[in-house]
Amino acid sequence: MDVIVDAMDNFETRYLLNRAALKRGVPMVHGGVRGLDGQVTTIVPGEIACLRCIFPKAPPRETLPVLGATAGVIGCIQAMEVVKYVVGVGELLKNRLLLFNGWDMKFSEVEVARNPKCEDCGGSSGEREEADDI
Ligand SMILES: [Zn+2]
Repeated sequence: MDVIVDAMDNFETRYLLNRAALKRGVPMVHGGVRGLDGQVTTIVPGEIACLRCIFPKAPPRETLPVLGATAGVIGCIQAMEVVKYVVGVGELLKNRLLLFNGWDMKFSEVEVARNPKCEDCGGSSGEREEADDI
């Protein structure tokens, strides 16, 4: 594969994808939705913060309705990130978490950074010795 697109509905599976992306050196475009809110970031192993750097602990599981249009907005942004990466154009959401607030129809952005004590990447080159189970 050239790119992993994270559209999972739980963090356990997201962390599994994160470790697979780190182990294989494959970029991962993370997307998440909750109600009318969503978020997107692009993770390039070995260069920037991984998903676990950004979200060290999984948020509590909850069942919330998601407006389909929210998933559409986030999915389209993820698709744009994939195309930009594959074609090599534009600026990716590296070390940036794009937040979508559908309630007020606003976008904002949070800067993120590698965590040298990250459980998955350890702030290293992205390779992980214990990732053989993936
Ligand atoms: Zn990390």
